[in-house]
Amino acid sequence: MAPHVSESALAGLVEDLAGEVITPGDPGYDEARVLHNGMIDRRPAVIAQCATQADVSNAVLFGRATGLPIAVRGGGHSVAGSSVIDGALVVDLRRMHHVFVDPEAMTVRVEGGATMAHLDHACQPFHVATTGGRVSTTGVGGFVLGGGSGWLERKFGLASDNLLAADLITAEGKHVRADADENPELFWALHGGGGNFGVATSLTMRVHPLPRTSVAMLFFLPDDAPEVVRTFRDLGERAPDEFGGGAIYLPAPPEPFVPEDMVGKLVCGALFTYAGPVGELRDFAAPLFALDPVVQIVTDIPYVDLQSMLDDPPGLRNYWSAEYLREFPDEAVDAFCDRGARIPPGTATQHVLFLMGGAVAAGSSRYPQPWRTAPWAVHPFATWEDPAYDDQARQWVHDVRADARPWAIESTYLNFVGSEGEQRIVSSFGEENYRRLAAVKAAFDPDNVFRYNQNIVPAG
Ligand SMILES: Cc1cc2nc3c(=O)[nH]c(=O)nc-3n(C[C@H](O)[C@H](O)[C@H](O)COP(=O)(O)OP(=O)(O)OC[C@H]3O[C@@H](n4cnc5c(N)ncnc54)[C@H](O)[C@@H]3O)c2cc1C
Repeated sequence: MAPHVSESALAGLVEDLAGEVITPGDPGYDEARVLHNGMIDRRPAVIAQCATQADVSNAVLFGRATGLPIAVRGGGHSVAGSSVIDGALVVDLRRMHHVFVDPEAMTVRVEGGATMAHLDHACQPFHVATTGGRVSTTGVGGFVLGGGSGWLERKFGLASDNLLAADLITAEGKHVRADADENPELFWALHGGGGNFGVATSLTMRVHPLPRTSVAMLFFLPDDAPEVVRTFRDLGERAPDEFGGGAIYLPAPPEPFVPEDMVGKLVCGALFTYAGPVGELRDFAAPLFALDPVVQIVTDIPYVDLQSMLDDPPGLRNYWSAEYLREFPDEAVDAFCDRGARIPPGTATQHVLFLMGGAVAAGSSRYPQPWRTAPWAVHPFATWEDPAYDDQARQWVHDVRADARPWAIESTYLNFVGSEGEQRIVSSFGEENYRRLAAVKAAFDPDNVFRYNQNIVPAG
């Protein structure tokens, strides 16, 4: 049972915070505890809507003094809902969303509660960008600290490869900076180790000259899927780093470009981007266009629009996982397509094959992210509305994982999975990396205060 928090302790927090304190019964409480995943309905004891770095420190100290468990919330996209916990103090960073671009230094400093939309909109006027997630409402904090996979990753690396420095508030409420020179072990650990080591109040990232961007969304009938996926696989194996994206099964969305009689019916598609003009995209992907898609959208697109193109409304029920594959032979194509054809009807589930490689693979030896060496990843992404589909959707995701086993490596990208147990976390980092991460955890959070995450248990 969560400890009782006295009125006077709460009044002290209200006094200390430039931001707002919300408790059950306050107006706005229900809105403040909602997460992207509609399956999560939790009731924290206190939500501290921090506005400044000092607020974060005060909130953490309040949590320690009262004994409340502490959850850290950015964009609220964690599929397991690790950012809102029953009976806990939620350190809510959403008011801290400012972004400062330095076009001379080619860096951007992002506050810990900013979303991808804040980042991309701030960068666009300066014609610069760094790798961002594929949905604009994802939080930069959880995304970058977990790794950060996006359309530009094959060209610019994972988002975490572009991390230059972080300001953190530790479990003792103290400020610590991590970069290549200052606290280098902590800096290393922040490349995939997530929110284990402290609350990031700001992240400084490298930016790159923004390339022109183009996108193609091609839908095919399910009977053509094996040939489409094989063609995508063959293209991927010789793709330049400008090319990114994947093959996908999904129920055709209710978009103006989808004929009415196809909406809701299962299609197989290819969804890919090019860091260059649409002509180059068309030339490179000509073998896919030659397969006669039934729907095709192919266009140049401003990067910020590309970044919000897949935005979904929050509130659907979500369950996902991911397996990273050392190879993707024809047998794997068949397994992918067989399972794609069996997406639970009545759900809005997507079955994605991501092309990895390029700059993602190039940075593999430096950081605790063994999964990034894999050339392919399967990402079953089940979403649905009606709780009656819960078991079916979860089972389908488990079946995708089982199908992928012959080609899967042990490591997975932990931002793409929910709570899959301690062993999954250890094998995702690799045992040696995990031991090193656990030592960093012991140095910065020996009491495991920040434990609502893909948790690294402090060494010793
Ligand atoms: C619709 C959707 C699309 C997605 N697309 C992508 C994608 O394209 N690429 C990709 O790589 N991932 C993607 N993700 C996964 C996403 O990266 C992770 O869910 C990530 O954890 C979300 O971060 P958040 O801040 O939004 O989440 P939250 O739920 O707010 O936070 C999750 C955890 O991150 C930690 N955290 C968050 N902010 C901070 C901070 N400032 N300091 C310290 N710890 C912090 C905390 O431990 C917290 O428990 C997607 C998720 C969704 C729901």
